[in-house]
Amino acid sequence: MAAQSTTAAPPAKARLGTLRALWPFIRRHMGLFSAWLLALGLASAATLSLPPAFKQMIDHGFSDGSNVNRAFLFLFAVAVVLALASAARFYFVSLLGEKVVADLRQQLYGHLIGLDAEFHDRSRSGELVSRLTTDSELLRSVVATSMSVALRSTVTVIGSLAMLFVTSPRLAAFALIGIPLAVLPIVLGSRRLGKASRASQDRVADANALANETLGAVRTVQAHAREPYERGRFGEAIAIAVETARKRIRAQAWVTAAAITLIFGAITLVLWSGAHDVISGKMSAGTLGQFVLYALIGGGSVGALAEVWNELQRAAGGMGRIAELLQETPRITAPGDGQQHALAQPVRGEIRFEDVVFHYPSRPEMPALDGFNLHVVPGETVALVGPSGAGKSTVLAMLLRFHDAQSGRIRFDGVDLRQLDPAQLREQVGLVPQHPTIFAASAADNIRYGRLQATDAQVRQAAADAEALDFIDELPEGFDSQLGERGARLSGGQQQRIAIARALLKDAPVLLLDEATSALDAQSERAVQHALQRLMQGRTTLVIAHRLATILQADRIVVMDRGRIVAQGTHEQLLAEGGLYAELAKLQFLD
Ligand code: ADP
Repeated sequence: MAAQSTTAAPPAKARLGTLRALWPFIRRHMGLFSAWLLALGLASAATLSLPPAFKQMIDHGFSDGSNVNRAFLFLFAVAVVLALASAARFYFVSLLGEKVVADLRQQLYGHLIGLDAEFHDRSRSGELVSRLTTDSELLRSVVATSMSVALRSTVTVIGSLAMLFVTSPRLAAFALIGIPLAVLPIVLGSRRLGKASRASQDRVADANALANETLGAVRTVQAHAREPYERGRFGEAIAIAVETARKRIRAQAWVTAAAITLIFGAITLVLWSGAHDVISGKMSAGTLGQFVLYALIGGGSVGALAEVWNELQRAAGGMGRIAELLQETPRITAPGDGQQHALAQPVRGEIRFEDVVFHYPSRPEMPALDGFNLHVVPGETVALVGPSGAGKSTVLAMLLRFHDAQSGRIRFDGVDLRQLDPAQLREQVGLVPQHPTIFAASAADNIRYGRLQATDAQVRQAAADAEALDFIDELPEGFDSQLGERGARLSGGQQQRIAIARALLKDAPVLLLDEATSALDAQSERAVQHALQRLMQGRTTLVIAHRLATILQADRIVVMDRGRIVAQGTHEQLLAEGGLYAELAKLQFLD
């Protein structure tokens, strides 16, 4: 059991070490950081000056008139310095926290959005969002509060300990036994806490991911009348999160109780001994007062450290997960200097698959492409047909270099894709997916996604060519109308035409097209067909075809099954041949 828990939760020290990854982000704001340290030093000095001021007040403040004013004035002056320094400390460190977390979020988001398809296949987007929000939030509180409290308390503990010895070495020795006694259970308790807090945050991320997924597919949920089921599932996820949190909270409560009991136990012991010294005249009342104040300040700081220790552990868990994500390296990268090839201008749009074998990493036993060979000449339109799971979408994904082949190669204008910068390659390829992505932005911005610098007139022209002008103009605010998340306010055919307009605007020499399978109404169908014809003109086109019209227009039809090409030719040739194509045609296009 003990051995098991050490492998599951690394020791507290190593975990806190992960917070070191925050330092580069803090270092960028050196001005704020130094200002904070200065304010912190001043506030600590003021705190530590309070007990002597207090002693002055007790020993001399009540005896003669002239000293009374001076003693109280000094006490008040120290308090004012403390107030101002504390305010400055709070201001600088809070601002630092905000800035550090803003930088961290920006870096994490920038990193995540650049990671490859394989990474995003295996991560849930809700969980990634949770890293960006919950974990970053935790780190904000660490920098803004915990780190500040930790440093301040450490300074105060050391300072008050030193002053305790100056005030009364004998009593200080007593205190010195008490403080380590208080720290020990805190350290022990915190180890358990580290593990519990990571588990607790993981469970919250699970619940968030679930909500994200189902709210994103709310129509599917409602269409199946699965609201009660989803409520139940979410409820279970939340209940598990609460239960895990309960364990963490309980551990934290115990640590706090133990710390306070031990600290005040020690103080009471010291006070009792000190009271005897005052009665026997070995010590003035003011000195005892000063001692007690230092003990209170020191003890309070130890308590604060205990709580902050827990916070720091929680944050270390968050930072650990963020660091994990930041360490993910994209597998699809631009080749190093010297190995990179640029495409010759003008780009011709010639595509060649040579003996490509590819398995998805999650399914190593089953190749999605198995010795795939295809040569598409510039300007040619090739229709890919085949049963579901044949590998058609994989062909398109490989061409965008979302994945690299395990063997064989893919050439674009004669250059191996792996020798090209993926960004440069993707600039040359337009994509109209089966389910186009419509962003929660205006119609104009959605089309402009194809070429960000396009003018309004160009956006309008693209919409016109995509036969999207009529319905966009009919929207309440025309091109400025918000399309709603995932284009909820558009029909399937309209969404496709937006995607076609986007591709027209991009004007890339190669076009990848995944035709929608769902039937559109006749009018929408005709509009989409016209738009597609315009789009395909003069481009090399690979189309996953579901419609007879597209197939008849293609220069060549490639029939795929189980990651291989099983036949190719024209519609008539393939029909005459019989086999898989004739079967598919009968089922899909000819009924
Ligand atoms: P098609 O487009 O012809 O329906 P796909 O190219 O989508 O076929 O799929 C080819 C094979 O690869 C299928 O067996 C499918 O289950 C598998 N596959 C597709 N995408 C993934 C993925 N992201 N991870 C694992 N396997 C996948």
